[in-house]
Amino acid sequence: MKYTTNTIRKMFLMFFKENNHKIIPSSSLIPKKKSNLLFTNAGMNQFQDVFLGKKKYPFSQVVTIQKCLRTGGKHNDLDEVGYSEYHNTFFEMLGNFSFGTYFKKEAILYAWNLLTDKSWFNIPKKKLFVTVYYKDKETYNIWNKIIKLSKKNIIKIYNKKNKKYESDNFWQMGDTGPCGPCTEIFFKKKNNNNQEYNLEDKSQCIEIWNIVFIQFNRINKNEIIPLKITCVDTGMGLERIASVLQNVNSNYQIDTFKKIITYISKINNLNISNHQSLNVIADHIRAAIFIINENIIPSNEHRGYILRRIIRRALCHGNKIGIKNIFFYKLTKIIISLFNNNEKDLENKKKYIINILKEEELQFHETLNKGIKFLNQEIKKLKKPEINSKIVFYLYDTLGFPIDLTKDICREQKIYINQEKLNNIILQHKKNTKNKIKKFIQNTIHTDIKTIFCGYKKNKITATIKKIFINGK
Ligand code: ATP
Ligand code: MG
Ligand code: MG
Ligand code: MG
Repeated sequence: MKYTTNTIRKMFLMFFKENNHKIIPSSSLIPKKKSNLLFTNAGMNQFQDVFLGKKKYPFSQVVTIQKCLRTGGKHNDLDEVGYSEYHNTFFEMLGNFSFGTYFKKEAILYAWNLLTDKSWFNIPKKKLFVTVYYKDKETYNIWNKIIKLSKKNIIKIYNKKNKKYESDNFWQMGDTGPCGPCTEIFFKKKNNNNQEYNLEDKSQCIEIWNIVFIQFNRINKNEIIPLKITCVDTGMGLERIASVLQNVNSNYQIDTFKKIITYISKINNLNISNHQSLNVIADHIRAAIFIINENIIPSNEHRGYILRRIIRRALCHGNKIGIKNIFFYKLTKIIISLFNNNEKDLENKKKYIINILKEEELQFHETLNKGIKFLNQEIKKLKKPEINSKIVFYLYDTLGFPIDLTKDICREQKIYINQEKLNNIILQHKKNTKNKIKKFIQNTIHTDIKTIFCGYKKNKITATIKKIFINGK
């Protein structure tokens, strides 16, 4: 195979190195303390302060392959995995950046040349089209006059209705601060005979590269002013460009994912090789391993909760395709072997990762089996495709079966859950719990005083109450 994932990584770095970019390693999946992101979700995260003008970077043109995770906030692709062929939770983002040196013309030329040049990715020019921000005439003209892309292959993207600056082609870091127009490059999966492509329909076309021109500073909702120093921030999904270059119809059919999926089938004696659940498991094991590698462990809050959700969702899909025994932790080996060229510390942490995964899997195994069995029985009884929210709550509250897994299973079988009713049940349950706690506190006040009197630490009882509050029971 000419363009293996590894070759693509190398070629990308080499191309930009030859064009005077400094290769910078990926930053951690955990953003710096002051960031409000749970996980790094784009190549630009590590350069945030540079774009904000708070920090001067020692290099003005850099290239990276950034580990990203999109499981929350503005970018939440977790529930897409299994349904979308082109979304992963964990993926690698190839990106080149200019901090005040080159701008629109050069950035577009770099991207275009890398994608279409015969000695690089060699994608036929007619297979590509682009989008531009409707006000960004400069970018439009570069595509049209310099790259010589016909007008029908340059799509203007407008702001969303009633929103001043909210377009897929206008990027902003936050409510204020650096912002600017983007241009995105799409790959045509089929010929649409001159009709406009539906950008959301990934059977027609897929977005491969986003190029952002940071040229404004947003002062407030209505005011933006030009920046003195303009920057370029780009991102292209490694798995997506691999699917294009390897001529397959899914991120999950590229060389690396094929190996993972074959391995899952082999060790579990399955005779399937193409299944939505295999995609989910293959995606989630990568994500889980990279999260654990950052010393996050499964828990009920914050990053640990995302990790737990990912692992449990994968186990649920394992159960769905008939895997009876614990299996997930066994996939660590293949993932580490696939990444051992560029993620050296994974190998050293292999045992640690396996232990965490195994423990979580063992702990959830019984709950999973009971929950799925119960849910399936209830689904069979249904006369119309709607499940009673009380059952969803019972599964969660009594059997410990996570609500998002119930939702996942119901979504797959096109069974409706009334979210409003479910919210009410949860709210009522919380109220009841609070009342119980209140009563408990009232009843224990005497004990509290007594304990102090006897010389015990007052904190002991406070700690117990706190714990009860946290657990919600
Ligand atoms: P999409 O519209 O397909 O969800 P996006 O617009 O959210 O993508 P960007 O934020 O522009 O994506 O990220 C830059 C590039 O990263 C995309 O053009 C794509 O190649 C890749 N990418 C984005 N999300 C994912 C994902 N979940 N899995 C794999 N690659 C992704
Ligand atoms: Mg997206
Ligand atoms: Mg997009
Ligand atoms: Mg995009």
